[in-house]
Amino acid sequence: MRVLVTGGAGYIGSHTLIELMAQGHEVCVLDNYTNATPAVLTRVRALSNGKIADFKGDVRDPAMLDRVMQDFAPDAVVHFAGLKAVGESQQKPLTYYDVNVGGTLALLHAMDRADCRKIIFSSSATVYGEPDYLPYDEAHPTRPASVYGRTKLMAEQVLTDWATAAPDRSAVILRYFNPVGAHASARIGEDPKDIPNNLMPYIAQVAIGLRQALTIYGDDYDTPDGTGQRDYIHVVDLARAHVAALDYTCKTCGARPFNIGTGQSYSVIDMVRAFERACGQTIPTQQAPRRAGDIAAMQANPARARAELGWQATHDLDAMTASTWAWQSANPKGYDAC
Ligand code: NAD
Ligand code: UDP
Repeated sequence: MRVLVTGGAGYIGSHTLIELMAQGHEVCVLDNYTNATPAVLTRVRALSNGKIADFKGDVRDPAMLDRVMQDFAPDAVVHFAGLKAVGESQQKPLTYYDVNVGGTLALLHAMDRADCRKIIFSSSATVYGEPDYLPYDEAHPTRPASVYGRTKLMAEQVLTDWATAAPDRSAVILRYFNPVGAHASARIGEDPKDIPNNLMPYIAQVAIGLRQALTIYGDDYDTPDGTGQRDYIHVVDLARAHVAALDYTCKTCGARPFNIGTGQSYSVIDMVRAFERACGQTIPTQQAPRRAGDIAAMQANPARARAELGWQATHDLDAMTASTWAWQSANPKGYDAC
């Protein structure tokens, strides 16, 4: 299939390009590079030996979208382009609604104009909010606690209404848990532009000497060791979920959400210990109070994805930490050195 990948130069997008091309799909990227560099695509091309059409532009720009649709004529779209920092979303709510909801609307309008009827959307487990029960299944109530989470839920609603308004449209909503890790080549990986918000890139930057110590936010949660628990998923497994979702869109109509996680959860301390095994060093830590808005634990029930997409995660925790360390140690300054 011909697949347009918005935000394809980003962390998850770049890994997904490789998996799509490995399955014989033709890909095209639309990215405005607000959180990526074109060097990513140079590396993905080298790794996949494949052609990638690319356009520099904003997913909210109708003229740019029409140009991409005309030139590339996609059969389907994988929509990653968006903003993802929870804290920043509270400071800049309109920017987040504009990019994450407005971007999705503009994209669907352009797809309608080009008669493109299949989309796969990057949503997040954060749409669930404080758990009534764990693991979350897709029927769990949705009540996101941040602006970011609300933009994702709103985009899900827009996609669902779009997909159900005509019989031949398909929207697959992937609710990611916590993506970590890097491609086995160590040529692409997560490269946060500022101080990392997320646990894994922060630990990796401590290990490489860019930061002094990991701050552990909260040791008094109702979890076995008191630190927060998450369902971490290897980014290559996540990327493969998009390939499975693409196959699914060919067989189905309407909109459907899927949890994309492993079904296992690990605490902050578990992650530190696993990273220490991978890098052979001790990771200095310091204790701090809970981070505002954090919940104690989350975990996916990925049964629906297994049953209906035929997808399940295959990488374990050690594969996640080892690949993160391989990427970080081979690229201490990320893509900056390119
Ligand atoms: P990322 O920032 O690495 O990738 C997003 C890409 O979109 C970047 O290349 C950026 O330059 C581009 N982009 C941003 N705004 C754009 C715009 N207006 N027009 C065109 N391009 C634009 O992030 P990621 O971690 O790869 O996440 C991809 C998607 O998955 C996002 O939608 C994010 O919300 C979602 N998601 C991420 C996580 C996570 O923890 N990484 C978890 C759940 C969901
Ligand atoms: N965390 C931490 N220190 C950090 C970053 C994160 O202790 O510098 C904890 C955080 O409180 C949570 C877990 O690590 O319990 C995962 O946080 P992350 O931001 O990676 O993911 P999210 O909170 O979005 O699930």
